Amino acid sequence: MINLGQLKFAYKRKTVLFEQLNAKMDSGKIYGLLGHNGAGKTTMLKLIAGLLFPKSGFCNVLGFKPEYRNPNFIKDIYYIPEEFEFPAFSIEKYLKIHSVFYPDFDKVILNEILNEFDLSYESKLTTLSFGQKKKFLLAFAIATKCRILLMDEPTNGLDIPSKSKLRQIIAKYITDERSFIISTHQVRDLDNILDSVIVIERGQVIFSKSIEEIQQKLVFKKVKSLDDNKDILYSSRELGGFNVLTKNIHTEETKIDLETLYNAINTNKELVNNAFN
Ligand code: ADP
Repeated sequence: MINLGQLKFAYKRKTVLFEQLNAKMDSGKIYGLLGHNGAGKTTMLKLIAGLLFPKSGFCNVLGFKPEYRNPNFIKDIYYIPEEFEFPAFSIEKYLKIHSVFYPDFDKVILNEILNEFDLSYESKLTTLSFGQKKKFLLAFAIATKCRILLMDEPTNGLDIPSKSKLRQIIAKYITDERSFIISTHQVRDLDNILDSVIVIERGQVIFSKSIEEIQQKLVFKKVKSLDDNKDILYSSRELGGFNVLTKNIHTEETKIDLETLYNAINTNKELVNNAFN
């Protein structure tokens, strides 16, 4: 569905951000694109959406070259930026103008999500709070029935109940035909909804595994003390003990702690990646 190979990209007059970016993403999956601020997450989403153009290498999305902006490609991809402006329209007027660009636009789905988020058609977009605007855009994006939905830091600006509603909605509307790619530096916000984790650091993919692989190869535990367990890949102190990450030697099944995984990768990516060999 998405295939980036040896992709090179630099902003004008800046040093190269992506030297040789490689990434593959399939349909039917929710991907978490994790990385610190400035790692290159937004840039990667914009390259996939065709809003930025690679210098070299290839970027194949749904069989198209995104930079050509083919109408059959554009109807199937939606990018929700981290920040955006709306015109002073009601939701109803916005829909009339924008939904026509998406031939499969589904008003039933839109109604369902607007109801879940307590938004009404009469609301004027400019009078909504930042969080409400984000919710509206998410509802609109899902209702387009696009095959690839790119969400850039979607939980920023949302309160805790809204974050959990967002997770529920994302999990509800994923289908075999589409994929959701969600960038965030707040890894806890995506707990329990991801199928795959991709971590980028300074323009490089430093980790890319499915949740299934992570569960098979790693064990997440809370322990009172750190005895001399040689299999510990990472540990962090917490109240009353430690969070530890170890290799999964005894085929245990533990709940993935995304934050511990992320911190472990950032501390020693080779050590974590070696656990998968
Ligand atoms: P992230 O989304 O992971 O926070 P970005 O993709 O936004 O990272 O940015 C990656 C790097 O590219 C940063 O160093 C940032 O300063 C730089 N950058 C982003 N946008 C531009 C731009 N329009 N012009 C020049 N540099 C940019």
